[in-house]
Amino acid sequence: MHQLLLLERKFVLLIPIAVDIEDSEAIREKYFDIMMNRLEYLTGQSIKQHVIVKKSFAIADFKKDYNSFGGNAYGLANTLKQTAIFKPSLKNKKIDNLFYAGQLTVPGPGVPPSIISGKIVAKQIIKQFPN
Ligand SMILES: Cc1cc2nc3c(=O)[nH]c(=O)nc-3n(C[C@H](O)[C@H](O)[C@H](O)COP(=O)(O)OP(=O)(O)OC[C@H]3O[C@@H](n4cnc5c(N)ncnc54)[C@H](O)[C@@H]3O)c2cc1C
Repeated sequence: MHQLLLLERKFVLLIPIAVDIEDSEAIREKYFDIMMNRLEYLTGQSIKQHVIVKKSFAIADFKKDYNSFGGNAYGLANTLKQTAIFKPSLKNKKIDNLFYAGQLTVPGPGVPPSIISGKIVAKQIIKQFPN
């Protein structure tokens, strides 16, 4: 007796891109092709023709689903003026009881830093408003 075994593989391909650049189906398709070509070249396997379902999530989706500024996904770019002490403060400069936490402030992007950011803010709030 013969058995037909169908194997299904799922994978995610990530391309870091700048914020607020043009986002369209045609552009997504173009980059999908570039990724597929590179992957096929690097692995020596035919992949694209076996793709059954594909889904993309990019700038317009980050804006729509997460209200993300400029479709940003990874936080602030690592430019000098946005690094270390130049990062946006945890505390609003004008409103005394307004604080910020998360990847867009200190210490920076990533899940662990975002959690640390919340802990730092919590401590600062407790210190400023002990009662
Ligand atoms: C594809 C991808 C892969 C990643 N991989 C990793 C990884 O491997 N390791 C790692 O450490 N980090 C990774 N990161 C980064 C990490 O996910 C982020 O740095 C982190 O989630 C930021 O946390 P946050 O709480 O600051 O913001 P978010 O997780 O973005 O949370 C902000 C929340 O606020 C909500 N919101 C926005 N506007 C409003 C509003 N007006 N009212 C109410 N709610 C609002 C949003 O919907 C969202 O739920 C990755 C990010 C991406 C996009």
